[in-house]
Amino acid sequence: MSKDQKKLVIAIDGYSSCGKSTIAKDLAKVLNYIYIDTGAMYRAVTLFAMKNNLIKNKDIDLKRLKELLPQVKITFKKNPVTNLNETYLNGENVEKEIRRLDVSNKVSMISAIGFVRERLVELQREMAKEGGIVMDGRDIGTVVLPDADLKIFMTAKPEVRAERRYKELKEKGEEVSFEEIMKNIADRDHMDTTRKESPLRQAGDAIVLDNSNMTPEEQLEWIIDLVNKK
Ligand code: C5P
Repeated sequence: MSKDQKKLVIAIDGYSSCGKSTIAKDLAKVLNYIYIDTGAMYRAVTLFAMKNNLIKNKDIDLKRLKELLPQVKITFKKNPVTNLNETYLNGENVEKEIRRLDVSNKVSMISAIGFVRERLVELQREMAKEGGIVMDGRDIGTVVLPDADLKIFMTAKPEVRAERRYKELKEKGEEVSFEEIMKNIADRDHMDTTRKESPLRQAGDAIVLDNSNMTPEEQLEWIIDLVNKK
């Protein structure tokens, strides 16, 4: 990679828990780019809605959420110890909270709301405007950054994804069963691919990466190879 290589815009989309953020983070580090986890932004809005009692079972108080949304400030700040970006909701570090299973179980309801997507897409485009960015999510290559220089669509077998997620949550000390995780992944796949607003789908010009049998190192090498060809 030459030093004066242009700062690219890289979009990584794909199913839940298939390792998008791991690879996106690693890639951003190697290239010295900014990494934006758009899932964290939908999770932060979900947590905000939960904290404000706007979600009752399957019902969301849409009117109130629309009123309060302008007050939701989502930022990312680097943790000086881990050197990783962490998510802040109105100035409070919520990185841990937004990864909980109860948030995961509600996030697809919130991300299906048109006015929430509109607001977050606007913020995401603003963050990407200088280039030198790796952004991961579900609609980055199709809606948020359709002119991205490189688009990757990631997938892996559901059992492999559930196994990875299960290990990750267990390591964080969360009491979860493998079956619960499998169900959460299947439900989110269904909701994310069938929703009316910006459903998860592969952009026509995206390159597919099925990482069921690949290590993170192998995936990184595979993507860097593509970046070098740009
Ligand atoms: O990537 P992650 O699994 O953290 O995303 C959480 C949820 O946020 C997804 O299941 C999806 O409903 C939503 N999402 C989205 N569009 C994005 C990123 C995430 O709808 N660009």
